[in-house]
Parts: sequence; C-alpha cells; structure tokens
Amino acid sequence: MLHAQTTGRRMFPLALALILVSAPVGGLRAEDPAEARPPLPPVSERARAVHAAGMLFDGHNDFPWLMRTQNDLGMTKSDFAQHVDGQTDVPRLREGGLKAQFWSVYIPSEQPHPTKTVVEQIDFVNRLVEKYPDDLQLALTADDVEKAVKAGKIASLIGIEGGVAIDDSFAELRAFYKLGARYMTMTHNKTLAWADAATGERQHGGLSEFGERVVAEMNRLGMLVDISHVSAETMEDVLRVSKAPVIASHSSAFALCPVPRNVPDPILAGLKTNGGVVMVNFYSAFLVPDANKNARAAKDAIRKAHPDDKAARDKAIAEWYENEPGTIRGTVATVVDHIDHIVKVAGIDHVGIGSDFDGIDSWPVGLDDVSAYPRITEELLRRGYSEPDVHKILGGNALRALREAETVAKQLQATTAPQVDDIKHVRKNDDD
Ligand SMILES: [Zn+2]
Repeated sequence: MLHAQTTGRRMFPLALALILVSAPVGGLRAEDPAEARPPLPPVSERARAVHAAGMLFDGHNDFPWLMRTQNDLGMTKSDFAQHVDGQTDVPRLREGGLKAQFWSVYIPSEQPHPTKTVVEQIDFVNRLVEKYPDDLQLALTADDVEKAVKAGKIASLIGIEGGVAIDDSFAELRAFYKLGARYMTMTHNKTLAWADAATGERQHGGLSEFGERVVAEMNRLGMLVDISHVSAETMEDVLRVSKAPVIASHSSAFALCPVPRNVPDPILAGLKTNGGVVMVNFYSAFLVPDANKNARAAKDAIRKAHPDDKAARDKAIAEWYENEPGTIRGTVATVVDHIDHIVKVAGIDHVGIGSDFDGIDSWPVGLDDVSAYPRITEELLRRGYSEPDVHKILGGNALRALREAETVAKQLQATTAPQVDDIKHVRKNDDD
C-alpha cells in the first residue's frame, strides 16, 4: 500500500477510472495524435519461456483492500476468474505468469477496531482461495508454495500490512500466525507505540524494547518481519535483532529515488549477512525522483486549460497519463534499474518483486497490471542476467527467505519460550 508523500490514500480508483476511459491518442493536446506513445513491442518468446520456467513470487498485492473499498468482500459484484476493474484477476495473473502471491491484509493506522479489520481481511483471502480452487491454493509454508505451483495453482499467502494489527499483544500476534499470516509489515505510515514509521514521527529512534520483542516472537513463530514502511532506524534495529531473514515486501532503492519509503544502501548492505530480500515496488513515486510533484504540475496545467469543463479535463488528464513517455511514471527499465542497484549493493540473492498492484495510483509505462510481469524478465535478460539469476529475482530469493525463517523458527521454538503479554489491567475484587 502506497502513500509515503501524501497523507490521504486510495486515489487509485479515480486514477484507474481515468485510465480506463482514456483513448490511446493524444498528449497534453488531445487533438494532436502525433503525441501518442507507440505501443510497446510484444514480449519475446525467449523471455516468455524463461519467465514461465521461473517462479514469480510477488511480495505485495492490495487486491483484498480494493475489494473492501468496493464493498465487495462477498465477491458478488465482480468475478475474479473473469475480470475485475483493477489490476488483478485470474486471466491477467495467468498471462503474467504469477506463481505465488503474498496477498496484503492491510489496515490503515487510524482504523477503529484494527483487529476486527485484520480478521475480516484474512477471512476474505481465505474465502477467495476457497471460491477459486482451480486457480488459487493457500500456502502456509515454503513447501506449500512449491506444492501449489506444481499443481498449477497460484500459491496464496497472507501478509499483514501494519503492526497496529496486533494491538500491542503477543497473543494476537500468535493468533494471526495461526490464522495464516506469514509476514507482518511492522508499521504503515504512522509511528506505533513500539516502532517508528518511515513517514511517521520519530518517537523511539527505531524499535522500542517491546518492538524488539515483537521481532523476537515473529522469528520464533516463523513469520517474516517486513521492513517496508518503517524508518531507516527501525530497519537498522530489525536487522540487529532479527535472527531470521527479513523482507521489504514492497520497497525500492533509496539511492535511486530518495523517499523515506525506500531502502537505503547501508540497510541493503546489511541484508547480505541477514539473508533478507528487498522486493521492488512498482509505484512511480518510489521509482522516479519527484514523480508525484511532476505529475501534479502536468495535471495542474491541464486543469488550467479546461477550467469549466470537468469531462474535458478528466479526458485530457487520462490521455496525458496514458501517453506520458515514462519520464514521470517510470518505465520497465526504471524498475530494473532499482533491481540492478540492489544487486550491486546487496547481491543477487537479496532482491525480488513486490509490485504493490491494486495499491498504487501510478505505475511505470508497460506495467499496467499483473499481466505485464514478463516485461521485467525481458529487460533483465536484455541486460545480461543469466536464467538462474532471473529466477532468483522473480521469486527464488523470496522462497529461500521464507524457508530459512521456518528453519530459524524451529530452532527457536526448541530453545526459547514464547513472549507473554504483561497484563497490567487485571481487575482485583476488593472483597477478596
Ligand atoms: Zn504499503
């Protein structure tokens, strides 16, 4: 889920609606078809073959929250097996060759009853898997992922986005593990009582002592610690405390796009010893410096040109977005630049894909939805990555991190006791 630089969220439905109604002609001046961007060439056969032989494992997709915002947790309005107005549905997942997905169970930091919301979102993922058994299969372990892929199903895992979920309770953390959660993003955009967020106040200088215990308990359970959304100091603390590989389920490289949501080089270097994986986010604002600022400026100019005609304005903005060459939105090459950088600093074993599809309102040219993943493979091959290295990036690294976290958990369960909540509010009966 996005929005490092904006406090609001979910501009996505509007942005997508604009794109969907846009005609593929015109630039800032809609009457000039010469400004239309030519269509991208089809993905080569070799890239398709390499892609299909790999195991694309995406770290973050916000489809469950999209269904919530559309008030369709019952999935009666759209058919996932046919078409959903968004970036994700079965036909496009199959076209994109997705093999495994961490479905994001997101809770806004300010959501009342966060625990109830998490349960509802986890329930949604479980029902989604049950409703589409020909295409989806629940996965709770790395072995489960491989079994699902072997059976031709999309391995479906659950990742909680926002430590607000656990209500400062180890019991709730364990309950969510039992409900199937296999990662937890420590914060969303707001700082919690035990962890500083990248875009929140600096309260603890990283993790509090309780936050360190949360990491320890997640290690003991075998739940991956996700450092997307946390401050650089929190990332540092997590790397210091965690005994298992950590992930950034949907973050890009700070050195190429300096926003607080991205992962700085010293942390990338630290992942080498930790064994962790940064899964690159496709959100334009995390890929291209000043993407949001420049998009706003372009849209403001269009708004000024159509002060009184909303329909014309919306159409022109949609056409601008559609034909923007990638200077602002980024391109497939921009995503691979981030992958390259992470490979350079952290190594080939520490990078993956975490699209953030259905949670972003701007994405690179050519990566419109989940059908487009093979374009990444094509660009990686073009740059000289070997097939085994492409496969590591697509999902091998993520699967290895999950498996290692399971091994560490087994060791810890044999040697350490669970973290137990300190119940401060036990009511005493005065008559006793
Ligand atoms: Zn997010």
